[in-house]
Amino acid sequence: MTRKKWTKKQRTEHREQQRTKVQKMMASFDDTMSGFMDAVDEAAASDELHKFLNFVGQFHQYSFRNAMLIMAQNPEATRVAGFRTWKKLGRHVKKGEHGLMILRPQMNKRDATPGEVADKTVETIDGKVRWLSFKPAYVFDVSQTDGDGLPELNYSAKGDEDNGLLDDLLQAAENGGVAVEFATRAEMNGADGLSHNDHRVQVNKDKPRAAQAAILAHELAHDILHQNGEQRPSRPTRELEAEAVAYAVCAARGVEHQGAAKYVAWWRGLDADDARRALEESMGRVRDATARLLGGNGPDGDAD
Ligand SMILES: [Zn+2]
Repeated sequence: MTRKKWTKKQRTEHREQQRTKVQKMMASFDDTMSGFMDAVDEAAASDELHKFLNFVGQFHQYSFRNAMLIMAQNPEATRVAGFRTWKKLGRHVKKGEHGLMILRPQMNKRDATPGEVADKTVETIDGKVRWLSFKPAYVFDVSQTDGDGLPELNYSAKGDEDNGLLDDLLQAAENGGVAVEFATRAEMNGADGLSHNDHRVQVNKDKPRAAQAAILAHELAHDILHQNGEQRPSRPTRELEAEAVAYAVCAARGVEHQGAAKYVAWWRGLDADDARRALEESMGRVRDATARLLGGNGPDGDAD
């Protein structure tokens, strides 16, 4: 992008204007955040999130080894479950689909021989010897099934109007030396956005502009707060910080983003008190990153 050459005076004036603009937008930051905390309270208590939690609970948490096996057989797999679980969810495996093989642990037992009972080094329980073995089992990705729709938690910013926010955030990213790429969800392993450790972020290219602006604000907040070489907070706190920044940036620019409260409530395990405490602790960091993005400053940059 070409930039006009400015005199020192023009540059100072511009900085001054920019500062006033940001100060104005930040004046309501405290109110915005207190409204956000109320919204998180409400989301944590909502039917929608409780239903979704219930739904997700149907899916088995696979071991690291099984997750690797699933990935190797279908890198695009998003929701994976056995034949019976899909049936319970009102879906069926499509004809001709091959299952993804995983290894299911099973405990075996048999009666101990008199010799084994006498041998103190052999562990027996109620006269039985037990051992663990693994048996192949087959699971199916959601794309291999048909049937009832699956509940989805929609936490995207709504509406088409982004009030120029997306362009301004792209400029902020450029000023801060962050590369922005627009990618499909499949390219991001089902995510709507990603922040990489080489000052590169990705945004779902299929979302409307308002949602893209909120996603970009979230990913840039990760870049500012969590990719700076300092020790990173836990994942739930990183997500809370990034999404609170996205909410505040959207609010300052008149973009509705109520979904942010759902996202944060989700990451705090639907525990509103925990969310509130964590948000209060992170407030300084959220404020700094918000001011930086609203001022057009990227992670290391100085907008001029
Ligand atoms: Zn995130």
